[in-house]
Amino acid sequence: MSKKTQKEKTNQTVLENGIERFEFYRNGIALLPESKDQTPGVAIMIVEDKLNLSFRFCSCKQYSTKSCEHIIELPQVYRAYIKKFAISNLEENFKKNRWYRIARVMANESHETPATIQLQCNEFGDEKVVNVFDSKGNEILSYLADANRCERFVGRCSLSKKNNKRASRDKVIKKLARLTITNNERAMLDRGLRTRGLAFRESFWYRFAYHAFRESGRNDCRFKTAVDERNGSFVLTCTGAGGDQVFRMDIPRLKVKELLSDFNQDSTGYEGVPTHPVPLKTVFCLSLNKQQELEIVPHIRFEDKTGGQKLYESESLKPNVYGTLIYIEEKGVFGELEHSDRTGWIFKDPEKK
Ligand SMILES: [Zn+2]
Repeated sequence: MSKKTQKEKTNQTVLENGIERFEFYRNGIALLPESKDQTPGVAIMIVEDKLNLSFRFCSCKQYSTKSCEHIIELPQVYRAYIKKFAISNLEENFKKNRWYRIARVMANESHETPATIQLQCNEFGDEKVVNVFDSKGNEILSYLADANRCERFVGRCSLSKKNNKRASRDKVIKKLARLTITNNERAMLDRGLRTRGLAFRESFWYRFAYHAFRESGRNDCRFKTAVDERNGSFVLTCTGAGGDQVFRMDIPRLKVKELLSDFNQDSTGYEGVPTHPVPLKTVFCLSLNKQQELEIVPHIRFEDKTGGQKLYESESLKPNVYGTLIYIEEKGVFGELEHSDRTGWIFKDPEKK
């Protein structure tokens, strides 16, 4: 076996042993101990650049006297990880990822954090399903995956249980967050405030995106959207590489436009409702009713690409409104009213010349 092949094999073994215990936050990296470890400890380091690691610490007993196996293993796992996925900067790579962008949309004006959500785990055949409920008791996400993935999801996205003696992913991520906080964020926190960026990082959706990135990460996921005709919910389903895990979430109506806009700009792996809304116009239909009174009824005019037109009574489309978008169920597309500069109409007196 050549030296290169041997090295690659060693890297592969290191990664297989450590990838599920590896966590990162900004430029902080950590390695949780194996369950069979008799002298467990959490190793932590800060990455100064791709290969230089500073600040090292491990919580095990051996480390206080000299080095320990955990602090030796952590950089090996980290380097094998960035090599395998050709990542030059973990944080930047995560921020460019679709999951991160979805989380930005979902977290906007949401106040849910790992402390406010409730999780419900159930068996589903050979797999598990984790249902996530917000602080008002509404289901905001369901996650179907094998038991190990679900366990990591719970560890990363919810508060660790009290009296949990094993190292918890939530606590490790929080520790990395404290170690990597920026001066600006710290100054704001001292005044009892949070930057928008920090508030996002502390949200449930940030942790969700991090888990999804870690587990099915890069660009091989399938994203599907549909409008549930029973209740009008806009549903996003995401399937990991090879269909090994499935996320399902109801997108709040006011976030649909922003989400579709992201898929419109990058349609990799996307299928479902067309991402670009068709232009709609408001028109007024005039008619005489039975009492011979003039009725003016607002309608929405839909025009397809071939020039075909259809009118819908505005009132009938009210249940189909998603912020500024209107769902035309019959056509399976979203439309958006064109803005008009006109603020009113002038009806001239026919008697007047
Ligand atoms: Zn150690």
